[in-house]
Amino acid sequence: MRWEGHDRLATANLAPGHRAYKEKTLVAGGTEYRVWDPFRSKLAAALLNGLDELPLEGRSSVLYLGASTGTTVSHVSDIVGGGGVVFAVEHASRVARDLLDRVASRRRNVVPVIQDARNPSAYFSVYGKVDVVYADIAQPDQTEIAMSNCRAYLRGGGTLLLVIKTRSIDVVRRPDKVIEGELAKMRGGFEVAQLVGLEPYDRDHAMAAVLYRAA
Ligand code: SAM
Repeated sequence: MRWEGHDRLATANLAPGHRAYKEKTLVAGGTEYRVWDPFRSKLAAALLNGLDELPLEGRSSVLYLGASTGTTVSHVSDIVGGGGVVFAVEHASRVARDLLDRVASRRRNVVPVIQDARNPSAYFSVYGKVDVVYADIAQPDQTEIAMSNCRAYLRGGGTLLLVIKTRSIDVVRRPDKVIEGELAKMRGGFEVAQLVGLEPYDRDHAMAAVLYRAA
């Protein structure tokens, strides 16, 4: 959308009148839109930096690891709409409280899962297989955690969107070497389709779009 003389990403607000993080809102054609800030959301940064295909559409189901207070979750919720669902996993209870207040209590398609992503078998509220696993947990073993969640919950032909925070994994090695090392772990049904750097919006981060072939 055009806003203050610039083109911006925005999503149609599934909870009109409510904001998730003090984002700007605009009304066009009777619909309220929320401006999607690439400095606050790595998925917006990846889209602006050329992520070829957003594997999300109306009615998609998403397992979101590392929901935090729900900034990106709220936009994913807008995109998948009332017919979709976002299972939002967050292990820090203080952060999860804000996720509940700002996002989950306003949106029926967001199911908060207050659990450790290292233990996917504990997600009793997640039903069936999802279309997309989105992982942004900033842990040294983030890639392994994401892959184990995919094996448990991602459908064959689904997509993993993996945020690679190079500093969480190794503060000494060069970021491109760290990324190379993480992508090399993607074996056994995982096929990296695209890697997008997130600068200038986010330093030392990249996003990988990974196809999951297993049934
Ligand atoms: N994705 C969020 C966004 O764009 O709005 C930001 C996520 S923040 C970088 C990482 C989050 O992952 C933190 O809220 C942290 O508490 C959570 N986290 C880290 N390790 C986790 C784990 N093992 N299980 C669940 N959540 C975890």
